[in-house]
Amino acid sequence: MKLKILVTAGDGIGPEVTNEAIAVLRDVAALGGHTFDFDFKRIGGIAIVQDGTPLPADTLAAALDSDAVFLGAVGGNEFNSLSPDKRPEAGLLGLRAALGGFANLRPAFAFKELAVNSPLRPEIIDGADILFVRELLGGLYFGQPREWDRAKGEAWNTMRYTRDEVARVARIAFQLAGKRRNKLTSVDKANVLEVSQLWRATVIEVAAEFPGVTLEHQYVDAMAMHLMNRPRDFDVVLTENLFGDILSDESGVITGSLGMLPSATIGGKVNLYEPIHGSAPDIAGKGLANPMGAILTGALILRYSAGLEAEAAAIEAAARKVLEQGFRTADLARGNTKDFKVLSTTEMGTKVRETVKTMLVNA
Ligand code: NAD
Repeated sequence: MKLKILVTAGDGIGPEVTNEAIAVLRDVAALGGHTFDFDFKRIGGIAIVQDGTPLPADTLAAALDSDAVFLGAVGGNEFNSLSPDKRPEAGLLGLRAALGGFANLRPAFAFKELAVNSPLRPEIIDGADILFVRELLGGLYFGQPREWDRAKGEAWNTMRYTRDEVARVARIAFQLAGKRRNKLTSVDKANVLEVSQLWRATVIEVAAEFPGVTLEHQYVDAMAMHLMNRPRDFDVVLTENLFGDILSDESGVITGSLGMLPSATIGGKVNLYEPIHGSAPDIAGKGLANPMGAILTGALILRYSAGLEAEAAAIEAAARKVLEQGFRTADLARGNTKDFKVLSTTEMGTKVRETVKTMLVNA
């Protein structure tokens, strides 16, 4: 397997955590005889400082010429006074738009060992393993017309979807459910919104192509409650843009830490992979960042861009094993140094790497 991966590590803890993830991917490649070529380009604040723009042309060109883009994080307090189109985040938005991915995959899973970090009771979250598929390029965030008419004291946005936009993301969600536990929950507000009625009718049409997958529908308000009461009942959850933004963040509490969560955006010209956390300027450069979210993002690259499922699963299993053994970064230990061995970013990366290697060698 050959893969050309563009790394845009970005700002703050971005370079620290992506370094650890790349080291894991290099080991996986060496052990399996795969060739992963890494190229490195600037994005975000570092690109503003060095290139005068948050998304330099050569970064964009390299991204479009790669098989997968691996982003760390962008942003920094020193850029907060810039106008939105000049800020580091504009670089990320520009990259997302150019790559064109419309299906944002965000896993939310429980680690038994981290249950104490979640506000939900352990018996509720134990075994929860949800994959959100959020439509990323349509709905309220992009629909026209949109405006804040200050003179009138009135503002409006438009929630709009076409049948094809719904069908293409639904197809991806059904395919993913078929590789997991064969259950798809489609979330809408079809009791009130016409857009949701189109959404539901289209999802039902697409379901006919996937007879092996059980489809259920939930209203978004009820779903917000079900996720907290019985998260184990859900496998793949398909939602439109706004609902997905809210529900996937809400479900972050199942995992109990921002530093653990990966994401992938697929369906466009090139898939984009990024941990969900930001650049965490408060802990940057101190060796405190948790690299697990980035390492698990590496696992998603293997799963969705390389088709290396066994290797992806080995990384996920290694992350669990390291937690079982009592190793924690500071965000996970939360000051508890009695029960846990607290590791720095690189120490945690090395621990996961060693565990992945052992697992793959003994597989
Ligand atoms: P953040 O995710 O950077 O940090 C929130 C809190 O979580 C902080 O206390 C931070 O220390 C902690 N944290 C985050 N990731 C961690 C990790 N891996 N290990 C340990 N602790 C971790 O969010 P924020 O503070 O709201 O934003 C900081 C900057 O990041 C802003 O400029 C924001 O715009 C940007 N941001 C970027 C992205 C992205 O690049 N995708 C996403 C969110 C925020």
